[in-house]
Amino acid sequence: MLDRSWTEVRLRFRRRWIGWLRLARELRMIGWGLLDTGHPILAHLIVTRRCNLSCAYCNEYDRVSRPVLLELLLQRVDRLADLGTAVITLSGGEPLLHPELEQVVAHVRRRGLMAGMITNGYLLTEQRILALNRAGLDHMQISIDNVEPDEVSKKSLRVLEPKLRLLSRHADFHVNINAVLGSGVRQPEDALAVARRAVELGFSFTVGVIHGPDGRLRPLGPREKEVYYRLNAMGRVSYSRFHHFRRNLVEGRPNNWRCRAGARYLYVCEDGLVHYCSQRRGWPGIPLEEYSREDLRREFFREKPCAPECTLACVHQVSLIDFWRAPQTPAAVLTPAATRNTIDLLPAGSQGEYSGWRSRT
Ligand code: SF4
Ligand code: SF4
Repeated sequence: MLDRSWTEVRLRFRRRWIGWLRLARELRMIGWGLLDTGHPILAHLIVTRRCNLSCAYCNEYDRVSRPVLLELLLQRVDRLADLGTAVITLSGGEPLLHPELEQVVAHVRRRGLMAGMITNGYLLTEQRILALNRAGLDHMQISIDNVEPDEVSKKSLRVLEPKLRLLSRHADFHVNINAVLGSGVRQPEDALAVARRAVELGFSFTVGVIHGPDGRLRPLGPREKEVYYRLNAMGRVSYSRFHHFRRNLVEGRPNNWRCRAGARYLYVCEDGLVHYCSQRRGWPGIPLEEYSREDLRREFFREKPCAPECTLACVHQVSLIDFWRAPQTPAAVLTPAATRNTIDLLPAGSQGEYSGWRSRT
């Protein structure tokens, strides 16, 4: 009995210590982000396009892709580090399907970056969590859409409860539970139960608003709106920092913000191409190894016409740091291109109504 409580005290102290170190690195990252606009703050790196689930609202997975070769992933991490990227979040598909994921995490940390991942949690085991601890993972996000699986999503609290308990017991890294509103699950009220359970287990909780197939806003129904406002009243959920942005999305109102995708945020697909985001694949579509400081600079100042209706919270959060400076213009528009050679920088005003702004996928 005494042994057990001593182990728990040590574990609590260890986690608190790791949390302080992480916070210190985060503060340094924010300070550097404020001082220097010439580096990416966050990159999503796709380690496999394959997923073990098939959520009805998702356009970011397939059933067949193989994991990206470890050697290529390590090269991509090196290239992102050389560009000055502060955080790399490993994503998919389902990143836990990559058998060497921990080695990628360890390399991200070796290069001095913060390491995160987004997962559906199904493949978590005690061994895998301990391996991620050892590799130095900083953040994990798990999406949970409902309490019981339905035809829209199997990312369900009942199924994932044992995995959450494992995380609560063993994870040294920060865990965030994310629920999506507007996905069409039968019981949007389930997000309240998910939020309560997340808080009970010591995790943070965020809520997202679903995007349509083109990444644009879909109005929420009355039940979902009510859930959003009840979550808001719970107070401990961490999305309150971006409350204004989310409230506009919930109400179907456009947001006035400067999307810094392609500069402060990069989406690196399984083929190693840089895209604005998961919903704007094909733009600019430049191979990461050729992506330069000049590309970062150009995209920093380029206005994205899809911004007012965009629901991609991670890009919005990253862009907030520069909201007060560096106004953007649509000075040049990229035509969809898979390589730098075919990028067509058109003179201002000659692109009509930004025709062609659709995802290639
Ligand atoms: S688990 Fe994630 S990647 Fe897989 S289908 Fe669902 S939303 Fe898409
Ligand atoms: S506004 Fe930015 S993040 Fe949103 S869809 Fe457009 S390019 Fe992507």
